[in-house]
Amino acid sequence: MPEVAAAFRGPIDLHTHSSASDGTETPYNVVRSASEAGLGTLALTDHDSTAGWPSASEAARDYELTLIPGMEMSTRLEYTSVHLLSYLFDPVDAALLAETEKIRDARLTRARQIVDRISADYDLTWEDVVAQTEEGATVGRPHIADALVAKGYVPTRSDAFEGILHWRAGYFQPHYAPTPLRGVELVVAAGGVPVLAHPGIGPRERVIPEKNLAALVDAGLFGLEIDHRQNSPEGKQRLRELAATFGLAITGSSDYHGEGKANRLGENTTRPEVLEALIERASGWQPVYGAVTRTL
Ligand code: AMP
Ligand code: FE
Ligand code: FE
Ligand code: ZN
Repeated sequence: MPEVAAAFRGPIDLHTHSSASDGTETPYNVVRSASEAGLGTLALTDHDSTAGWPSASEAARDYELTLIPGMEMSTRLEYTSVHLLSYLFDPVDAALLAETEKIRDARLTRARQIVDRISADYDLTWEDVVAQTEEGATVGRPHIADALVAKGYVPTRSDAFEGILHWRAGYFQPHYAPTPLRGVELVVAAGGVPVLAHPGIGPRERVIPEKNLAALVDAGLFGLEIDHRQNSPEGKQRLRELAATFGLAITGSSDYHGEGKANRLGENTTRPEVLEALIERASGWQPVYGAVTRTL
């Protein structure tokens, strides 16, 4: 009997967003764009949602790419928002599902509150934001930004983030999110593999404190996303020291949001040995091997 061995190809990009959250392309089209960009493997990691998995999986088969189904979970350490990439977990795990639903609900309430505040000073309604949001998508500031662009208040999404949506402008409000430790515990319990997303944003001293990181490692944290355009050079240096200390894997990714952000697919990539170890660690879900290598 010929044996069929599943294999992934490079380049590997482990962090992308679709219209299931705040990316501008459908999940299917994110995979198509990845194929056009010459990637061999990509992970779809929408914020707090797995809604894009089915159509991204279909596209992975159509375009013969390997898809790593994933999510970027919102967590919070006191006042700092901490994003947790999670890969190959069981998408119907009851505890994880309950928590992500709670976060999405909180995001919705919070987005309405931000829009209420903005509407005191600008002609912006909740309907304007809904018009920019795919049905069922995880709502965030990017959708409010798009509504502000549509209304002509700012030229681009990024300008909205630097202006009206920046916390300094006074309209901002945080939303409920579990602690990073709770996030790691939930992802691991669902058979998934957690990686801290862009943990080096800002100056070196703002990188996650070592004692908090140690607790995440004890709970099963797999790696740190070090090669990401938003990590500062000093942050990256500190993170490499921490990865060595704790024996953590290092990943690299684009954090592609379609036209919503400047980040381009494949601008940072992950080494194949790291992905191999990640797949080995996972027990909740399988990669979708759109291209299957046949050996003997
Ligand atoms: P929120 O999670 O609602 O507070 O919004 C922050 C999210 O906006 C992050 O996930 C960013 O990746 C995303 N985002 C999308 N486009 C942009 C942009 N052009 N500038 C800044 N953040 C952006
Ligand atoms: Fe985002
Ligand atoms: Fe993020
Ligand atoms: Zn992201």
